[in-house]
Amino acid sequence: MFRIGTGFDVHAFEPGNKIYLCGVEIPFDKSLAGHSDADVALHALTDAILGALALGDIGLHFPDTDKKWKKADSVIFLNWSITQAKKRKLKLSNIDLTIICEKPKINSYREKLILNLSKICSLEHDRINVKATTTERLGFTGREEGIASLCSILLHETN
Ligand code: MG
Repeated sequence: MFRIGTGFDVHAFEPGNKIYLCGVEIPFDKSLAGHSDADVALHALTDAILGALALGDIGLHFPDTDKKWKKADSVIFLNWSITQAKKRKLKLSNIDLTIICEKPKINSYREKLILNLSKICSLEHDRINVKATTTERLGFTGREEGIASLCSILLHETN
């Protein structure tokens, strides 16, 4: 049995000096605004897994009105979604993640992001893709107002 899922997320920039992507701290001249650590990539991945499991979305399980998740490490959300998959005897087959922004340039961090996802998800390196794109200076990502992320995943049955 296979289950497919997609996730999408956006976070706006605010004044700061670092952002989190795929659980990796990246020095930058802005931060991402959010109730949690605003890791837009992990949020899209978590939503993709929840989508495949028909479990709603990240906001349903970790509401931003709950003080418990203030400045929370988004790895917690991802781990919870993976645990839900395990409970249903499902395992990640692959991850295809896209990060959409003008800056920071993701290419120099790509390997680090993949390695961290591999570690968190206990998934082989060659089953994880992290892509980066810009929107050719169009729209909110083009104006460097924030970062968007898009993710597709596949889950397969384990025995
Ligand atoms: Mg989010």
